[in-house]
Amino acid sequence: LTTLAIETSCDDTAVAILTRDPEDGRSRLVFNERISSDHRQFRGIEPLVAVQGHTSALAPLLRRAVERMPSHGDGGRARGCPDFVSVTRGPGIMPNLSVGLSTAKGLAVAWNVPLVGVHHMQAHALTPRLVRSLGMRMPVDEGEGAGTASGPEFPFMTLLVSGGHTQLVHSRSLTDHRIIATTADVAIGNLLDHAARDILPTDVLESAEDVMYGRVLEAFAFPDGGTPEEYAAAFQPSATRADELVDHPTGYDWILPLPLRHTRRLEYSFTAIGTTVQRIAKANPSMSVPERRALARHTMASAFRHLASRICLALEDDKVKWALRDTSTLVIAGGVACNRFLLHTLRSTLEARAHGHIRFVVPPPELCTDNAAMIAWTGMEMFEGGHHTDLSVLAINKWPMDPDKGPGIMGAP
Ligand code: ATP
Ligand code: FE
Repeated sequence: LTTLAIETSCDDTAVAILTRDPEDGRSRLVFNERISSDHRQFRGIEPLVAVQGHTSALAPLLRRAVERMPSHGDGGRARGCPDFVSVTRGPGIMPNLSVGLSTAKGLAVAWNVPLVGVHHMQAHALTPRLVRSLGMRMPVDEGEGAGTASGPEFPFMTLLVSGGHTQLVHSRSLTDHRIIATTADVAIGNLLDHAARDILPTDVLESAEDVMYGRVLEAFAFPDGGTPEEYAAAFQPSATRADELVDHPTGYDWILPLPLRHTRRLEYSFTAIGTTVQRIAKANPSMSVPERRALARHTMASAFRHLASRICLALEDDKVKWALRDTSTLVIAGGVACNRFLLHTLRSTLEARAHGHIRFVVPPPELCTDNAAMIAWTGMEMFEGGHHTDLSVLAINKWPMDPDKGPGIMGAP
């Protein structure tokens, strides 16, 4: 089976062609490229520039992809034609999604093949399954039961940490994803992007290659790449629940809040960290580079500590514990999953809280941030599961995966 996939939910224009052998389950990425527009002068993603970028970049990128389309050996489809078209239907920025969706519909009509509209967050969550199917090395697969050649099999937990989402999800099957905790305000990627603009020295900010400031913040905080010793010095977990009651000590005359520390509610919140960082940066405009570096480390540490605390609370919550009884794998996906210090914080906190048996699976960085390969893979799994999308569907900008909170993964008709 061959699919061509389009992803335009945010600012990356991405196209992939994936083939999968239904017999042995192995996949091959024939084409996988992305083009981003330049948002540096805006210091963040400017939606209008992104939509113009998609409009000009998508068709030429598709033309290059189609030139690589494998011809079918079985004499079935004509050369240059996939078995179906996959496309991100949501969530994301509405006009941006529509560029990709309309183009995908056009291709499906022209080729006379089915369309599969894909949920972008489901695609982030399924990325480790793509990695296995491609026979690629999984950069992080540790804990009990690690290292199997396929999977991760359902059920598993997913921590989705990206520019627009922060969710702890219980993925029970291809189409059944229940949200355990989600953010009440901004997403963690958004917090890190904003905090980076407050913390980074001007020259570092201005020489950034793109506006993925979360990545720049990590590189600035750990200029030598981050060693276990540096990570341990920047974050030490506490074994007790009392840890949830203290703000983040720093050794400087500023302190960062630990969000929601007075409640055990299964929810995330990042604005308090963001406003505190902004206040510290405004009050100390001439902060030295070492102090800025410390602020960067502590900002990440308190945000990641908050992520870890809610995972522990979920694992310790009677109701959730029951639902998760067969689930011991945690997939970490989305752009922020690239962060190596995040992994240290989660791993050491879970170990300190007697959840060390949880297996961690993290895909490679180039597949954590937005890409069309994950859309192709999710389209493939959905298509093989018998799911198609009607040609009249609309894009969905806010689309909870949880069937209890909206139309669910199958989407509105
Ligand atoms: P969503 O998937 O929620 O629609 P998105 O597609 O814009 O949002 P992704 O491409 O998955 O988000 O991730 C981008 C985010 O990841 C940005 O906020 C970026 O700063 C962050 N990010 C990327 N690399 C790192 C890193 N090494 N450390 C921290 N954050 C990072
Ligand atoms: Fe994304």
